[in-house]
Amino acid sequence: MRYSAFQILKEGITGNKGWKPAWREPEPKAEYDILIVGGGGHGLATAHYLAKEHGITNVAVLEKGWLGSGNIGRNTTIIRSNYLLPGNEPFYELSLKLWEGLEQDFNYNAMVSQRGILNLAHSDAQRDAYTRRGNAMRMAGADAQLLDADGVRNMVPFLNFDNARFPIKAGLWQPRGGTVRHDAVAWGYARGADSRGVDIIQNCEVTGFQMQNGQCVGVHSSKGSIKAKKVAVCVAGSSSRVMEQAGLRLPIESHVLQAFVSEGLKPTIPGVVTFGAGHFYVSQSDKGGLVFGGDLDGYNSYAQRGNLPVVEDVCEGGVALMPMIGRARLLRMWGGVMDMSMDGSPFIDKTSIPGLYFNGGWCYGGFKATPASGWCYAHLLATDNPHPTATELRLDRFMTGRMIDEKGVGAQPNLH
Ligand SMILES: Cc1cc2nc3c(=O)[nH]c(=O)nc-3n(C[C@H](O)[C@H](O)[C@H](O)COP(=O)(O)OP(=O)(O)OC[C@H]3O[C@@H](n4cnc5c(N)ncnc54)[C@H](O)[C@@H]3O)c2cc1C
Repeated sequence: MRYSAFQILKEGITGNKGWKPAWREPEPKAEYDILIVGGGGHGLATAHYLAKEHGITNVAVLEKGWLGSGNIGRNTTIIRSNYLLPGNEPFYELSLKLWEGLEQDFNYNAMVSQRGILNLAHSDAQRDAYTRRGNAMRMAGADAQLLDADGVRNMVPFLNFDNARFPIKAGLWQPRGGTVRHDAVAWGYARGADSRGVDIIQNCEVTGFQMQNGQCVGVHSSKGSIKAKKVAVCVAGSSSRVMEQAGLRLPIESHVLQAFVSEGLKPTIPGVVTFGAGHFYVSQSDKGGLVFGGDLDGYNSYAQRGNLPVVEDVCEGGVALMPMIGRARLLRMWGGVMDMSMDGSPFIDKTSIPGLYFNGGWCYGGFKATPASGWCYAHLLATDNPHPTATELRLDRFMTGRMIDEKGVGAQPNLH
């Protein structure tokens, strides 16, 4: 069923009895061409593009919980393409372009809202670094503007400019950045893939891989063994645990990141504002809640919940930047498990085991990557060659020394 204004009108006057479930609930078949492990944003996007762009529909997505139970339904919804390095920037710009046409592509309202993102600079050195980053973005076809302190003051006059420990010197502004309703992205991709014949199987945990002569030929799962010509893993925070079942160790650690939402307030914050010096970032949802976050919890964990010291730390950062939010009440908070790679950049690659593919290492920035990640992973699975914008996102880059050290802090994800 296609969604349209006409359909809403028709259902409205006929008692809303004709709506169909957005996707089926099939039992798994014995064999598929491609099995995707993990029904988060990246897995579902991969399935959608495999079916839509490559005509490969004998595909199943196996999800251990329900769609949206992972990071796709837990993130703070920010999209942007303000990266510096050549291995990353064109990839994230491809993603932003795909976001711009996504709702028409999968015929679903994902509330893509390009209200802009502002990174604040608090020292001359940081302003110079943002100038360099902005130039790199423009060279890759993205949009970027450097604002001086007055430009920032005009845009967000309520920040603490005058008595702050970290005075605001400038800002890097990307007008095309913004926010997207995160769970609608999972539902839209699921619906797009399902309508082309992909089986989406919820409550189906992959517990091992079937190997034959050193090749991966399927998986073992809580719904039985399923064969496949190719198995594509994209389980984000569970990457190390799942790939360990195939005997592979990854340059990835899992860490908790928390998100927070305040009570609804009048419209205050025009776009997304990030405060790197205090580790705090914030946007405002259409319902009025301030949606914000900050540091990782700082120790390795697979728990989808955080701890109180980081609540205090994040709120301190927020109050330092905009003292007036000290009077807002916190409504809810949650945690998600981040697949932190050692150079802050992701992987979309074949593994050393024929038939087994890997997508992960998204750190705390994989939501914005969802469309390009699905696009490039589908390309890799369909053609066995990396997509031109993802050639650097290789698993062997730590062996060859070709790291994409986006944040430059090496093997300490808590310092990214
Ligand atoms: C608090 C928070 C804020 C964030 N904010 C942003 C942001 O503003 N912008 C941004 O770009 N990114 C952000 N991120 C990061 C982003 O959400 C993730 O990088 C991205 O969602 C990861 O990809 P995914 O959607 O495929 O992951 P997930 O949704 O986690 O999907 C992985 C799926 O694999 C499933 N799975 C795991 N093990 C198995 C198994 N054995 N068998 C079957 N299925 C399995 C899980 O249940 C899960 O559903 C944030 C993350 C968090 C937690």
